[in-house]
Amino acid sequence: MSGNFLNVDLHCHSTRSDGVLEPSQVAERAYANGVRMWALTDHDELSGLSEAREQAESRGMCFINGVEISTTWSSVTVHIVGLNFDAQHPALRDNLAGLRAGRLARAQRIASVLKDQGIERAYEGALAFAANPAMVSRTHFARFLVQEGHCANLSQAFDRWLADGKPASVPMQWATLEQAVEWILAAGGQAVIAHPGRYKYTELQFQTLFDYFKQLGGVGIEVLTGSHSEQDYKTYTQVARRYGFLVSCGSDFHGPNEGRVDLGRLPPLPSGLKPIWNDWW
Ligand code: AMP
Ligand code: MN
Ligand code: MN
Ligand code: MN
Repeated sequence: MSGNFLNVDLHCHSTRSDGVLEPSQVAERAYANGVRMWALTDHDELSGLSEAREQAESRGMCFINGVEISTTWSSVTVHIVGLNFDAQHPALRDNLAGLRAGRLARAQRIASVLKDQGIERAYEGALAFAANPAMVSRTHFARFLVQEGHCANLSQAFDRWLADGKPASVPMQWATLEQAVEWILAAGGQAVIAHPGRYKYTELQFQTLFDYFKQLGGVGIEVLTGSHSEQDYKTYTQVARRYGFLVSCGSDFHGPNEGRVDLGRLPPLPSGLKPIWNDWW
Protein backbone atom coordinates (compact mmCIF):
# COMPACT_ATOMS: atom_id res chain seq x y z
CA MET A 1 0.00 0.00 0.00
CA SER A 2 1.43 3.39 -0.82
CA GLY A 3 0.54 6.92 0.22
CA ASN A 4 -2.10 6.74 2.94
CA PHE A 5 -0.45 4.03 5.03
CA LEU A 6 -2.77 2.80 7.76
CA ASN A 7 -0.99 0.80 10.45
CA VAL A 8 -3.12 -2.35 10.84
CA ASP A 9 -2.40 -5.30 13.16
CA LEU A 10 -5.05 -8.03 13.13
CA HIS A 11 -3.30 -10.89 14.94
CA CYS A 12 -1.88 -10.92 18.48
CA HIS A 13 -2.31 -12.55 21.88
CA SER A 14 -2.87 -11.62 25.52
CA THR A 15 -2.76 -13.50 28.84
CA ARG A 16 -6.25 -14.78 28.00
CA SER A 17 -4.45 -17.35 25.84
CA ASP A 18 -0.67 -17.65 25.45
CA GLY A 19 0.45 -14.02 25.40
CA VAL A 20 2.32 -12.44 28.33
CA LEU A 21 0.56 -9.05 28.51
CA GLU A 22 -2.98 -8.29 29.71
CA PRO A 23 -5.41 -7.19 26.98
CA SER A 24 -5.16 -3.56 28.18
CA GLN A 25 -1.35 -3.70 28.04
CA VAL A 26 -1.46 -5.10 24.50
CA ALA A 27 -3.75 -2.21 23.55
CA GLU A 28 -1.33 0.27 25.08
CA ARG A 29 1.65 -1.21 23.25
CA ALA A 30 -0.21 -1.42 19.95
CA TYR A 31 -1.14 2.26 20.21
CA ALA A 32 2.40 3.29 21.24
CA ASN A 33 3.75 1.40 18.20
CA GLY A 34 1.45 3.31 15.86
CA VAL A 35 -1.31 0.74 15.29
CA ARG A 36 -4.59 2.45 14.41
CA MET A 37 -6.71 -0.54 13.41
CA TRP A 38 -6.30 -3.43 15.79
CA ALA A 39 -7.72 -6.89 16.56
CA LEU A 40 -6.89 -9.08 19.55
CA THR A 41 -6.98 -12.75 18.42
CA ASP A 42 -6.52 -15.01 21.43
CA HIS A 43 -6.56 -18.77 20.76
CA ASP A 44 -10.13 -20.16 20.97
CA GLU A 45 -11.02 -17.44 23.50
CA LEU A 46 -13.08 -14.23 23.47
CA SER A 47 -12.79 -13.10 27.09
CA GLY A 48 -10.19 -10.39 26.39
CA LEU A 49 -12.19 -8.58 23.75
CA SER A 50 -14.25 -6.23 25.92
CA GLU A 51 -11.21 -4.96 27.86
CA ALA A 52 -9.23 -4.65 24.64
CA ARG A 53 -12.01 -2.73 22.91
CA GLU A 54 -12.48 -0.33 25.80
CA GLN A 55 -8.75 0.43 25.96
CA ALA A 56 -8.40 0.70 22.19
CA GLU A 57 -11.38 2.97 21.70
CA SER A 58 -10.35 5.25 24.57
CA ARG A 59 -7.17 5.91 22.54
CA GLY A 60 -9.09 6.45 19.30
CA MET A 61 -8.06 3.18 17.68
CA CYS A 62 -10.48 1.24 15.51
CA PHE A 63 -10.98 -2.10 17.30
CA ILE A 64 -12.06 -5.29 15.52
CA ASN A 65 -13.22 -8.41 17.37
CA GLY A 66 -10.83 -11.30 16.68
CA VAL A 67 -10.12 -14.93 17.55
CA GLU A 68 -7.64 -17.56 16.34
CA ILE A 69 -9.40 -20.92 16.12
CA SER A 70 -7.39 -24.16 16.32
CA THR A 71 -8.40 -26.65 13.62
CA THR A 72 -7.02 -29.94 12.35
CA TRP A 73 -7.01 -30.42 8.59
CA SER A 74 -5.34 -33.40 6.95
CA SER A 75 -3.57 -34.25 10.24
CA VAL A 76 -1.97 -30.80 10.55
CA THR A 77 -2.98 -28.02 12.96
CA VAL A 78 -4.24 -25.06 10.93
CA HIS A 79 -5.14 -21.78 12.61
CA ILE A 80 -8.15 -19.88 11.31
CA VAL A 81 -8.46 -16.23 12.31
CA GLY A 82 -12.01 -14.93 12.66
CA LEU A 83 -12.47 -11.18 12.36
CA ASN A 84 -15.26 -8.65 12.85
CA PHE A 85 -17.87 -11.03 14.31
CA ASP A 86 -20.43 -10.62 17.08
CA ALA A 87 -18.55 -11.64 20.23
CA GLN A 88 -21.82 -12.33 22.07
CA HIS A 89 -22.98 -14.89 19.51
CA PRO A 90 -24.11 -17.85 21.70
CA ALA A 91 -23.11 -20.69 19.36
CA LEU A 92 -19.64 -19.24 18.78
CA ARG A 93 -19.12 -18.85 22.53
CA ASP A 94 -20.34 -22.38 23.33
CA ASN A 95 -18.33 -24.00 20.58
CA LEU A 96 -15.11 -22.26 21.62
CA ALA A 97 -15.69 -23.33 25.23
CA GLY A 98 -15.94 -26.94 24.03
CA LEU A 99 -12.73 -26.57 22.04
CA ARG A 100 -10.82 -25.26 25.08
CA ALA A 101 -11.94 -28.14 27.28
CA GLY A 102 -9.25 -30.66 26.28
CA ARG A 103 -6.21 -28.55 27.14
CA LEU A 104 -5.62 -29.57 30.76
CA ALA A 105 -5.69 -33.28 29.96
CA ARG A 106 -3.34 -32.73 27.04
CA ALA A 107 -0.99 -30.73 29.31
CA GLN A 108 -0.76 -33.75 31.60
CA ARG A 109 0.22 -35.91 28.65
CA ILE A 110 2.88 -33.39 27.56
CA ALA A 111 4.25 -33.33 31.12
CA SER A 112 4.41 -37.11 31.25
CA VAL A 113 6.43 -37.23 28.01
CA LEU A 114 8.80 -34.60 29.43
CA LYS A 115 9.10 -36.61 32.64
CA ASP A 116 10.19 -39.61 30.59
CA GLN A 117 12.89 -37.34 29.19
CA GLY A 118 14.06 -36.46 32.71
CA ILE A 119 12.19 -33.15 33.11
CA GLU A 120 10.19 -33.12 36.35
CA ARG A 121 7.13 -31.07 37.35
CA ALA A 122 6.49 -29.62 33.89
CA TYR A 123 2.69 -29.64 34.41
CA GLU A 124 2.92 -27.41 37.48
CA GLY A 125 5.65 -25.38 35.80
CA ALA A 126 3.63 -24.70 32.65
CA LEU A 127 0.48 -23.90 34.63
CA ALA A 128 2.41 -21.33 36.64
CA PHE A 129 2.87 -19.40 33.38
CA ALA A 130 -0.80 -19.66 32.36
CA ALA A 131 -2.93 -16.82 33.74
CA ASN A 132 -5.91 -18.81 32.51
CA PRO A 133 -5.15 -22.48 33.36
CA ALA A 134 -7.80 -23.79 30.97
CA MET A 135 -5.80 -22.20 28.13
CA VAL A 136 -2.51 -23.90 28.99
CA SER A 137 -0.62 -24.34 25.72
CA ARG A 138 2.67 -25.54 24.31
CA THR A 139 3.87 -21.94 24.62
CA HIS A 140 3.57 -22.14 28.42
CA PHE A 141 5.61 -25.36 28.44
CA ALA A 142 8.22 -23.64 26.27
CA ARG A 143 8.48 -20.75 28.76
CA PHE A 144 8.89 -23.26 31.60
CA LEU A 145 11.66 -25.13 29.72
CA VAL A 146 13.54 -21.87 29.13
CA GLN A 147 13.09 -20.77 32.74
CA GLU A 148 14.50 -24.07 34.01
CA GLY A 149 17.54 -23.74 31.76
CA HIS A 150 16.71 -26.75 29.56
CA CYS A 151 17.09 -24.55 26.48
CA ALA A 152 18.03 -20.98 25.62
CA ASN A 153 14.83 -19.72 24.02
CA LEU A 154 11.29 -20.62 22.95
CA SER A 155 12.31 -21.59 19.50
CA GLN A 156 14.76 -24.19 20.86
CA ALA A 157 12.05 -25.56 23.15
CA PHE A 158 9.84 -26.12 20.10
CA ASP A 159 12.67 -27.51 17.99
CA ARG A 160 13.69 -30.03 20.65
CA TRP A 161 10.40 -31.05 22.27
CA LEU A 162 7.21 -29.25 21.35
CA ALA A 163 6.97 -28.62 17.60
CA ASP A 164 4.66 -30.86 15.56
CA GLY A 165 6.25 -34.30 15.28
CA LYS A 166 8.65 -33.76 18.22
CA PRO A 167 8.42 -36.01 21.31
CA ALA A 168 6.22 -33.75 23.47
CA SER A 169 3.96 -32.31 20.79
CA VAL A 170 1.00 -34.59 21.77
CA PRO A 171 -1.34 -34.21 18.78
CA MET A 172 -4.83 -32.82 19.43
CA GLN A 173 -7.99 -33.21 17.38
CA TRP A 174 -9.07 -29.58 17.23
CA ALA A 175 -12.15 -28.24 15.43
CA THR A 176 -12.64 -29.20 11.79
CA LEU A 177 -12.04 -26.55 9.14
CA GLU A 178 -15.76 -26.69 8.31
CA GLN A 179 -16.72 -26.02 11.93
CA ALA A 180 -14.34 -23.10 12.40
CA VAL A 181 -15.50 -21.33 9.24
CA GLU A 182 -19.14 -22.04 10.00
CA TRP A 183 -18.89 -20.68 13.57
CA ILE A 184 -17.23 -17.48 12.35
CA LEU A 185 -19.70 -16.91 9.50
CA ALA A 186 -22.71 -17.62 11.73
CA ALA A 187 -21.49 -14.89 14.09
CA GLY A 188 -21.31 -12.45 11.16
CA GLY A 189 -17.53 -12.50 10.79
CA GLN A 190 -14.92 -13.21 8.14
CA ALA A 191 -12.57 -16.22 8.14
CA VAL A 192 -8.86 -15.96 7.30
CA ILE A 193 -6.15 -18.66 7.08
CA ALA A 194 -3.45 -17.68 9.58
CA HIS A 195 0.26 -17.84 8.64
CA PRO A 196 -0.08 -20.34 5.74
CA GLY A 197 3.71 -20.46 5.40
CA ARG A 198 3.93 -22.47 8.64
CA TYR A 199 2.04 -25.56 7.48
CA LYS A 200 3.94 -28.58 6.28
CA TYR A 201 1.81 -29.45 3.26
CA THR A 202 2.63 -30.51 -0.25
CA GLU A 203 1.76 -28.16 -3.12
CA LEU A 204 -1.30 -30.27 -3.89
CA GLN A 205 -2.49 -30.22 -0.28
CA PHE A 206 -2.13 -26.42 -0.21
CA GLN A 207 -4.18 -26.08 -3.40
CA THR A 208 -6.86 -28.33 -1.95
CA LEU A 209 -6.88 -26.37 1.33
CA PHE A 210 -7.24 -23.01 -0.43
CA ASP A 211 -9.97 -24.26 -2.80
CA TYR A 212 -11.90 -25.95 -0.02
CA PHE A 213 -11.58 -22.99 2.36
CA LYS A 214 -13.03 -20.73 -0.35
CA GLN A 215 -15.83 -23.17 -1.00
CA LEU A 216 -16.71 -23.11 2.71
CA GLY A 217 -16.98 -19.31 2.63
CA GLY A 218 -13.49 -18.37 3.86
CA VAL A 219 -12.39 -15.08 2.32
CA GLY A 220 -8.85 -14.27 3.35
CA ILE A 221 -5.28 -15.31 4.05
CA GLU A 222 -2.54 -13.68 6.05
CA VAL A 223 0.24 -12.52 3.76
CA LEU A 224 2.20 -10.40 6.24
CA THR A 225 2.70 -12.12 9.60
CA GLY A 226 5.52 -12.44 12.10
CA SER A 227 5.88 -16.11 11.08
CA HIS A 228 6.54 -15.39 7.39
CA SER A 229 9.88 -14.86 5.67
CA GLU A 230 10.35 -12.35 2.84
CA GLN A 231 9.98 -15.30 0.46
CA ASP A 232 6.67 -16.26 2.13
CA TYR A 233 5.44 -12.66 1.56
CA LYS A 234 6.02 -13.18 -2.16
CA THR A 235 4.55 -16.68 -2.25
CA TYR A 236 1.33 -15.71 -0.46
CA THR A 237 0.94 -12.49 -2.42
CA GLN A 238 0.77 -14.74 -5.50
CA VAL A 239 -1.63 -17.12 -3.75
CA ALA A 240 -3.93 -14.23 -2.74
CA ARG A 241 -4.00 -13.00 -6.34
CA ARG A 242 -4.55 -16.45 -7.80
CA TYR A 243 -7.42 -17.40 -5.47
CA GLY A 244 -8.92 -13.93 -5.14
CA PHE A 245 -8.38 -13.88 -1.37
CA LEU A 246 -8.63 -10.73 0.68
CA VAL A 247 -5.41 -10.13 2.56
CA SER A 248 -4.86 -9.78 6.28
CA CYS A 249 -1.79 -8.86 8.27
CA GLY A 250 -0.78 -9.21 11.90
CA SER A 251 2.37 -9.46 13.96
CA ASP A 252 1.26 -12.58 15.95
CA PHE A 253 2.76 -10.76 18.92
CA HIS A 254 2.89 -12.87 22.13
CA GLY A 255 5.24 -10.85 24.33
CA PRO A 256 7.96 -8.18 24.35
CA ASN A 257 10.86 -10.65 24.31
CA GLU A 258 9.32 -13.24 22.03
CA GLY A 259 8.83 -13.54 18.29
CA ARG A 260 10.37 -11.72 15.39
CA VAL A 261 7.91 -8.88 14.92
CA ASP A 262 6.51 -6.42 17.44
CA LEU A 263 2.96 -5.04 17.29
CA GLY A 264 2.49 -2.66 14.38
CA ARG A 265 5.94 -3.34 12.93
CA LEU A 266 5.09 -5.24 9.76
CA PRO A 267 5.96 -3.65 6.41
CA PRO A 268 3.18 -2.12 4.26
CA LEU A 269 1.14 -4.56 2.15
CA PRO A 270 2.46 -5.26 -1.32
CA SER A 271 0.50 -3.22 -3.85
CA GLY A 272 -2.38 -4.65 -5.82
CA LEU A 273 -3.79 -6.76 -2.97
CA LYS A 274 -7.24 -6.26 -1.47
CA PRO A 275 -6.98 -5.63 2.29
CA ILE A 276 -9.66 -7.35 4.35
CA TRP A 277 -10.28 -4.10 6.23
CA ASN A 278 -11.18 -2.05 3.14
CA ASP A 279 -14.91 -2.31 3.81
CA TRP A 280 -14.69 -1.78 7.57
CA TRP A 281 -14.07 1.96 7.85
P1 AMP B 1 -1.01 -25.10 21.22
O1 AMP B 1 -2.22 -24.29 20.86
O2 AMP B 1 -0.96 -25.45 22.67
O3 AMP B 1 -0.77 -26.26 20.32
O4 AMP B 1 0.25 -24.14 21.05
C1 AMP B 1 0.49 -23.51 19.82
C2 AMP B 1 1.27 -22.23 20.06
O5 AMP B 1 2.65 -22.51 20.17
C3 AMP B 1 1.16 -21.30 18.87
O6 AMP B 1 0.05 -20.48 18.99
C4 AMP B 1 2.42 -20.49 18.96
O7 AMP B 1 2.23 -19.43 19.86
C5 AMP B 1 3.39 -21.45 19.60
N1 AMP B 1 4.31 -22.07 18.62
C6 AMP B 1 4.03 -23.08 17.77
N2 AMP B 1 5.14 -23.43 17.06
C7 AMP B 1 6.13 -22.62 17.49
C8 AMP B 1 7.53 -22.49 17.19
N3 AMP B 1 8.13 -23.28 16.29
N4 AMP B 1 8.24 -21.53 17.84
C9 AMP B 1 7.66 -20.74 18.77
N5 AMP B 1 6.34 -20.82 19.12
C10 AMP B 1 5.60 -21.75 18.48
MN1 MN C 1 0.16 -18.73 20.30
MN1 MN D 1 -1.19 -19.41 15.04
MN1 MN E 1 -1.36 -16.45 16.81
